[in-house]
Amino acid sequence: MSAFGKEIRSLVFDLDGTLYNCQELGAQIEEAAISLVANSRGLSMEQGRRVLQDARSLLAETPDDLPPLSKTCQELGLDLRDFIRALEEKVYPERFLQPDPNLVALLRFLRERYDLYIYTNNGFFLSGRILALLGVDDCFRQIYSLEFAWRPKPDAEALQLLLADIGGLPESFLFIGDRYHVDLREPEKLGIPVFAVHTAVDLLRLPSLLGITS
Ligand SMILES: [Mg+2]
Repeated sequence: MSAFGKEIRSLVFDLDGTLYNCQELGAQIEEAAISLVANSRGLSMEQGRRVLQDARSLLAETPDDLPPLSKTCQELGLDLRDFIRALEEKVYPERFLQPDPNLVALLRFLRERYDLYIYTNNGFFLSGRILALLGVDDCFRQIYSLEFAWRPKPDAEALQLLLADIGGLPESFLFIGDRYHVDLREPEKLGIPVFAVHTAVDLLRLPSLLGITS
């Protein structure tokens, strides 16, 4: 028995914090965003850090729900193309990530039964590097990165474009992510089943929740 209904065909995964957890990589991504803010405004790194932090706090609905870095940079008037370029130049997932046998086994199992997708605020190039390092770059039919709609999650319009691109009724999707207000709230509003991942162990529960354990 599936906890999400019987109609599910498409699993849409967030990437960072969902398929892997790495504080060092998260810190590098944040540093890249800070340097972008600092360079674009002629500020020191410390001043850039302050500007970015203040903007994130201002945009946050609650103190725990900080908006994504991509969205914050956009709100600060920065071009998302520059955000992606900063990530490509300053983030080195090769230093931190390696193949995750549990994740590889899980996704290979799931992909036999479902179409798997990535929906991320990361750029296409860096997303591909991360997926390759984790050993799962061949598991996904499509990567919906920031370049897909140039509208960072959470975004109702970008979500509609993604759903139309994949095709299918709301109940044929399952959205999986680590941040409810970024990854799951918009799909849930449309009646799409969602699954929150808080630890790596949560992901491994997916087959039993989908009712497909052997
Ligand atoms: Mg995430």
